[in-house]
Amino acid sequence: MRSTMMQMPLTVNQILERGNQIFGNREIVSRRPDKSLHRTNYAALYRRSRQLAAALLEAGIKPGDRVATLMWNHAFHLEAYFGIPAAGAVLHTLNLRLAPEDIAYIINDAQDRILIVDDVLIPLMEKVKPKVKLERIIVVPTTGAPVPESYDNYERFIDRDAFNYRYPELDENAACGMCYTSGTTGRPKGVVYSHRSTVLHALGVALPDCLNLSVMDAVLAVTPMFHANSWGVPYAAVMVGAAQVYPGQHMGAIDLLDLMENEGVTLAMGVPTIWLTILQALEAEPTRWKLKKGMRMMVGGSAAPPAMITAFEKYDLSIKHGWGMTELSPVGTLSWLKPEHLGLPLEEQHRIRALQGLPLPLVELRVMGEEKALPWDGKSVGELQARGPWVTGGYYNSPTDPDKFTVDGWLRTGDVASISPGGHMRISDRTKDLIKSGGEWISSVDIENAIMSHPAVAEAAVIAVKHPKWDERPLAAVVVKQGKSVTEEELRRHLEVHFAKWQIPDDWAFIDAVPRTSTGKFLKTKLREDFKSWISRTPG
Ligand code: ADP
Repeated sequence: MRSTMMQMPLTVNQILERGNQIFGNREIVSRRPDKSLHRTNYAALYRRSRQLAAALLEAGIKPGDRVATLMWNHAFHLEAYFGIPAAGAVLHTLNLRLAPEDIAYIINDAQDRILIVDDVLIPLMEKVKPKVKLERIIVVPTTGAPVPESYDNYERFIDRDAFNYRYPELDENAACGMCYTSGTTGRPKGVVYSHRSTVLHALGVALPDCLNLSVMDAVLAVTPMFHANSWGVPYAAVMVGAAQVYPGQHMGAIDLLDLMENEGVTLAMGVPTIWLTILQALEAEPTRWKLKKGMRMMVGGSAAPPAMITAFEKYDLSIKHGWGMTELSPVGTLSWLKPEHLGLPLEEQHRIRALQGLPLPLVELRVMGEEKALPWDGKSVGELQARGPWVTGGYYNSPTDPDKFTVDGWLRTGDVASISPGGHMRISDRTKDLIKSGGEWISSVDIENAIMSHPAVAEAAVIAVKHPKWDERPLAAVVVKQGKSVTEEELRRHLEVHFAKWQIPDDWAFIDAVPRTSTGKFLKTKLREDFKSWISRTPG
């Protein structure tokens, strides 16, 4: 028997319509390049996104064509988030932290037809331009300075009355966006999001136990809009009518804290590096900023050091830890407590909050052993696999890769994890970052977290170095906090509480900064390169 329910395709356009109809006066605040503030609202977002859609159709864009953006986080980028899909086209966000050759590779692979670029990024775009075949380059005058004559001016391009604009008929499975993986493990690969997956993901992240996003919120997206849809929050925020605050290109701790205070931010998202710099700024001047009590800070992209989660509590700020991947739109899990956890000692509650967390509704996870799925016992460790309506089932332009997908249709995440009986997932490493010493696995992440809980340590990354007898041994590369000092011996003693002797590194290096990927993760490939001739001090 079939249901009596209507068949309504889920589209991003419905989010845009709702934003205008119900939340038209909610504000979008963006920092301009000169740090002044640009203010607009959802009614204007609606009008201008539809103008952009109409202009793209007039420029010859057809359903499914790719329109790329090379832009910082601001209201114009949000217009592209809605305007490009409203034309039936595909928003292709380009990571502006990549090298020009990589950006060109990605534009060519995706066959982008039009590029929308911030005026401040013209110098970068000009390095890319000779290597690509773009039909049009449209420059957004974010500084207010005139756009060079050789390019289209975004304001002129969209200037029209789009009051009667009609969206093209859309299949909910049609593509609305695409993003390339950051390529830490080979050439970047394209992940293509559908209207349906984007709407479902927005509903998922907004749920009370997830981000608890509502019309009462003012959301600061520090996570780049050019990578993994800024964790889908721009769409979710318009859906629920939350105000949005964008930092533009100004990601320094002081600028972010000023924005949080002045705009009454209640929820912010960023990678651990951002929150570590914010924590240092707060520790240096604890009374300078009056932040909203209980402000939620979503952290993901790499593991949130547990010590950071507790440190923020002093300031009445609450860290929410989550795990995701470009391939998962990107949010897969978030860590929240259940009623039965509330009676546990505070330390135990912190331990649970520091896990990668529970899968969002509709996301399924399993941990695979050699042959079969392992029990959810909090101990069995294997490869984490995922499936769900916002998990990619393949890559654009690539044949199905058995290294990335199982025959029964699960995504192989490349992460190594365990899951507790109640469903809390814990990542212990990435497959390729595990250290195999004397036939036993050592988790680099566990050692890093323990080193980072030492008060003198700002950051630590642990990699494997070759050893003639033990095969591999851990090397800890440590960044010491400014004005503090610590010795190898003190750090070894600090680890003795948590680890067996053979797991504790004998190899220590004090470095100025941990090398990072374009999205702020530890770049362990570079660290391994830097230490490739290191001779392990562990006796044979
Ligand atoms: P790439 O895989 O190219 O680095 P992504 O930005 O999609 O690009 O990164 C996804 C990966 O980031 C995950 O597979 C995982 O290894 C890591 N990651 C994301 N969030 C977390 C987290 N909270 N804890 C640990 N690792 C994380």
